[in-house]
Amino acid sequence: MESLDKMANIDPVQLGPDSKFSFECHKGVKCFTKCCSAIRITLTPYDIIRLKKRLQLTSEEFLAIYTEPHLLEKTDLPMVTLKMGSDAKESCPFLREDGCFLYEDRPTTCRYYPLGVATLSHKEGADAEGFYFFVNEPHCLGFEEDKAWTVREWRQDQGVDIHDEINSDWTDLVVRKRSFPPNIKLTDKAKEMFFMVSYNIDKFRRFVFESTFLQRYNVDPDVREKIKNDEIELLKFGIDWLKEIFFKQTTPEEQAQATAGKNKADAALS
Ligand code: SF4
Ligand code: SF4
Repeated sequence: MESLDKMANIDPVQLGPDSKFSFECHKGVKCFTKCCSAIRITLTPYDIIRLKKRLQLTSEEFLAIYTEPHLLEKTDLPMVTLKMGSDAKESCPFLREDGCFLYEDRPTTCRYYPLGVATLSHKEGADAEGFYFFVNEPHCLGFEEDKAWTVREWRQDQGVDIHDEINSDWTDLVVRKRSFPPNIKLTDKAKEMFFMVSYNIDKFRRFVFESTFLQRYNVDPDVREKIKNDEIELLKFGIDWLKEIFFKQTTPEEQAQATAGKNKADAALS
């Protein structure tokens, strides 16, 4: 979670799972909720699945009401961030006087705060396991509290692990795409598919079950059954499918397959 005007203050020190820090956040701190305005929160696929369920919206509705699209530098991949309010403070739409009204379902970035995770912030070296850093924002007084943590303990306490586990294949896909030479471009259709699988799970379900997808791709009946009723399984299936399409491009031999894959995917979308 990064204040838009304070991003220069991000401490570049790399932290690992056993790095230690003192911090506590509670309703008694003077800065309570100050970190919930004018911020850039990149949303992950699992964030959207949880938030739309909490808000009882479809993924299309959630995207339309609460998100803004961006292109992720060095990957050319479409991403979404949480759209801040139009009030003077640019408050998060989920902020109320007594705090976050959907705290139990808050996004991954909010759970990590005051840590940042390199993969979500798209930092160089993010491919390394467990690359974290402090988001040192002057308004955050939690560092003055005495409670001691390791990064590992903080992640566990904030329930980040389940988010990271479910998002791991998606994160891997984004990191791998970033390492591609700039001359390897995705087609617009491939980007459209990435967006649909990553953020619009309801549309992806329709795409799989209400188009010719299942005639074009040989999907095991057990898998079909599983992905029909389970959004997490559907997301995992979608990411595997995207990987097939994106990453058969690393060698000249595979380039031909990649082209075939893209054509297949383009055909499936048409
Ligand atoms: S989602 Fe909740 S915790 Fe995150 S910025 Fe908004 S109000 Fe704050
Ligand atoms: S201590 Fe930091 S994280 Fe907690 S409310 Fe204050 S600014 Fe936000």
